[in-house]
Amino acid sequence: MTDTRFDLIVVGAGIVGLAHAYTAARQGLKVCVVERDAACVGASIRNFGFITVTGQGAGDTWRRARRAREVWGEVAPAAGIATLHQGLWLSAFRPQALAVLQEFMATEMAEGCELLAVGEAARRAPALELAGAQGVLYSPHEIRVESRTAIGRLARWLAEAMGVQFRFGEAVLEVAAPRVRTSRALMHAERVAVCTNTDLNGLFAESIAQYDLRLCLLHMLRVQPQDDFKLPGSVMSDLSLVRYHGYSKLPAAQKLLAQLQEEEGEALANGIHLIVVQSADGSLVVGDSHHYGAAPEPFADQRVDEIILAHMHKAIKVAPGSRVSERWVGIYPSSATTDCVIDAPDDATRLVLVTSGTGASTAFGIAEEVFAAW
Ligand SMILES: Cc1cc2nc3c(=O)[nH]c(=O)nc-3n(C[C@H](O)[C@H](O)[C@H](O)COP(=O)(O)OP(=O)(O)OC[C@H]3O[C@@H](n4cnc5c(N)ncnc54)[C@H](O)[C@@H]3O)c2cc1C
Repeated sequence: MTDTRFDLIVVGAGIVGLAHAYTAARQGLKVCVVERDAACVGASIRNFGFITVTGQGAGDTWRRARRAREVWGEVAPAAGIATLHQGLWLSAFRPQALAVLQEFMATEMAEGCELLAVGEAARRAPALELAGAQGVLYSPHEIRVESRTAIGRLARWLAEAMGVQFRFGEAVLEVAAPRVRTSRALMHAERVAVCTNTDLNGLFAESIAQYDLRLCLLHMLRVQPQDDFKLPGSVMSDLSLVRYHGYSKLPAAQKLLAQLQEEEGEALANGIHLIVVQSADGSLVVGDSHHYGAAPEPFADQRVDEIILAHMHKAIKVAPGSRVSERWVGIYPSSATTDCVIDAPDDATRLVLVTSGTGASTAFGIAEEVFAAW
């Protein structure tokens, strides 16, 4: 803890900060990560651990996700992080949803994906509930890690194998590179990467203010299915097609949105769409909802969870009445115009905020781009 001079100080030990620390350490830089909590307990451990490529917005986000997926493929085994399942199954229950998938299949982003007839999907993925389904998109690109433990493992591996120093339980109070003042020390760094996610009113609040960000609060659930239940991969359904930009920006998504507004008004009003992933112990992580505001209320309305669970039962053959064993909320900053803010308050400082709820899927790709241009 006596070392206070570094090539790079990273503020924040979530996945965005760790991705910057990893990228810099690979370049041989002397790196320190300063995290105000005793461990990372932010968005990065509360998410699905769903590393998603297919469905990410065309252009920067999709490109970053593809690169990040490759980096996860190198880092996860080295850091002892298990890949719990692979691939995405997105069931279309409405003709309008199938039309979106058909349009998606004609884009370059569908490379490696298959649009399956219902019978074929049922044969390959028996856990899917396909009553009334019109077709299923299968994407092989996705992986899932248990983010709750993976982030801590990644930090430990960066420390042990890559020589990154960590200072937990220490807030960064001021950055005026090369000077960095924390709650415990005065440090020095050639460069500083500020990866503070939801902390919009702290460091570089003035820079952040120009991006007109709001906070977005999500509901998450852990469900205990029947003993032999095995998901084939991550599962999504119609509502995801009007939320993930890789689908929602396609022309056919407008008709689907109009149909969903008639049939799923309450789900849309609560920003609900379905993601289900499975953990090593068989339990399912299920979500999510999206409520926006400057200070989202932390009071989790049971009705929101009921809607999420109803969508889960429509999409997978999990036993009725399966027990919810955990509930939590998570928060990320959200922008109406960009998936990621990369700001340069000065030559030596970069502020990097993922503003679209896609940080697990894109952070490694973003970090490489930040250093390539810095
Ligand atoms: C419920 C939920 C589900 C999601 N699901 C997915 C998913 O499946 N796939 C996906 O790709 N993305 C998902 N996301 C988005 C993803 O989790 C985020 O984009 C990502 O975790 C952001 O990483 P981060 O490092 O910026 O933030 P965080 O993990 O929140 O880390 C920021 C850290 O900065 C620290 N910090 C802040 N200020 C200071 C300071 N002054 N000094 C020191 N430390 C400071 C905080 O304590 C915190 O630990 C989800 C998000 C949520 C909330």
